[in-house]
Amino acid sequence: VEEVRLLSRRYGAVLLDLDGTVYMSTAPADGMDVLVDLLPGAKEFIAACRDAGVLVGFATNTSYQTPEVIAARLRRAGIPAEPGEVLTAPGSIARQLLADGVRETAYLGGPGVRAAVAAAGIPVVGVDEVDPEAWADGGGPRAIAVGADPELRLATLNRAAELVDTGARLYVSTLEPHFPSAVGRQPGSGPIVAAIAAMARDRLEPVVCGKPSEFYAALAAQYVAGREPVLMVGDNPATDIAMAELLGWDSLLVLTGTTTAADLKGATAHPRATFVVPDLTAALSTPADLP
Ligand SMILES: [Mg+2]
Repeated sequence: VEEVRLLSRRYGAVLLDLDGTVYMSTAPADGMDVLVDLLPGAKEFIAACRDAGVLVGFATNTSYQTPEVIAARLRRAGIPAEPGEVLTAPGSIARQLLADGVRETAYLGGPGVRAAVAAAGIPVVGVDEVDPEAWADGGGPRAIAVGADPELRLATLNRAAELVDTGARLYVSTLEPHFPSAVGRQPGSGPIVAAIAAMARDRLEPVVCGKPSEFYAALAAQYVAGREPVLMVGDNPATDIAMAELLGWDSLLVLTGTTTAADLKGATAHPRATFVVPDLTAALSTPADLP
């Protein structure tokens, strides 16, 4: 607790990754969401930050669900959270579609992708609902927004490839092949892009919008604007710590998800975190410098 008081004096905002940092998903819930197990110290660390007046936000690369569903998932697990505090990869995709002047979008993935694009005011339909000939008329610019979806069919991916061949650009959450869960690795959006690239005639150059892209970094910086300095908390050096480095923020690496203590030995090529702790329980007491 003493150390969190120190952190709260040092930081005006704390952004936390979710999977592997705050919780691990364990099983599909009734309906569309997943059940999660909180990781050690996460609830207490977040509560201590809020008690100290630190701005808290959740910065996830999750693409399937909406911020509303993710905030409800956190609340169900005992962590107060509002949708406006949840930054997602589809939120970053939508922000970039607007910046690029995209006028029409087809999507692949879960409700999180469709909802984020629609919320940005851009017309969006499922890839299967688009007639490729209608998109070949040169109007646009048009785009395909892609997030993870374990249920995709090859016919749908082929339709996306046909849309790529009309000149539509593809915006994707991440190129990661998997993401971790308590019930084993789950397919990410990387293989979806690979399948579309394999079927498209035109060369595919996806716009990657999740952490640690400059687009997600801009979304995160906008969220904490005026509350610097910022601490980024995450389990993945390649995404969470790399984005903190890009933004010039301090970072806290937890070893509850993607990264193990063994991974750190000799890992000089990785972006280096400011602090490394076994889990967020340790962050409540004695953050240690990276050995
Ligand atoms: Mg993570």
